[in-house]
Amino acid sequence: MSVITIERKVLEKNDEVARQNRTAFAQRNIFTINLVSSPGAGKTSLVEKTLETLKGRVNIAVVEGDVQTDLDAQRVAKYSVPVVQIVTNGACHLEAKLVQDALVNLNLTNINLLIIENVGNLVCPANYDLGEHAKVVVASTTEGDDKPLKYPAMFRNASALIINKTDLLPYLPCSIDALKLNALSINPSLEIFETSCTTGKGIEPWCRWLEKRSVKETGAR
Ligand code: MG
Ligand code: ZN
Repeated sequence: MSVITIERKVLEKNDEVARQNRTAFAQRNIFTINLVSSPGAGKTSLVEKTLETLKGRVNIAVVEGDVQTDLDAQRVAKYSVPVVQIVTNGACHLEAKLVQDALVNLNLTNINLLIIENVGNLVCPANYDLGEHAKVVVASTTEGDDKPLKYPAMFRNASALIINKTDLLPYLPCSIDALKLNALSINPSLEIFETSCTTGKGIEPWCRWLEKRSVKETGAR
């Protein structure tokens, strides 16, 4: 039972810092998303496509979270946007405090949209609020269509679902209809996008959603 108590305390402390982050984002009129998925679903490729597509439309900054290496931040840096890498050194999720500390190293002047790419993991990132406005879960077709049923918390807490790698559908035993039904059975209000970062298909509707949300959030200016 003591384990449960400790876990609750950790989460309470995290929620407190997440609230501080949310206030900081609101003061700067920044719409923030927390991008989550299992490893290899294509989060960084999606970030790259998003930066490419929204160039000149939305000013974006990126926080990269990884267990080891700054390889993803290096990929993002090629798009000449503010980016900072958090290396968790083994921890399997980002916490609000890590994001708060990372923000100090990020130039947020004129930024409308902050993308936080979480550590690849469909379990605990569901429980750690980073102060974001929306969690966005990426599920790739290579993972099959039962992920929402096996990791319901992540899909329940997300605002949007991106079904990625749709170009591979002809080669896989994954039903996109079943995947959508499973996701909607967990969370009926999920916005769903179907994308391929290889062909670029479906990237524009996703980017339009992001753009609309960013403008709404920053509408005061
Ligand atoms: Mg990545
Ligand atoms: Zn974790």
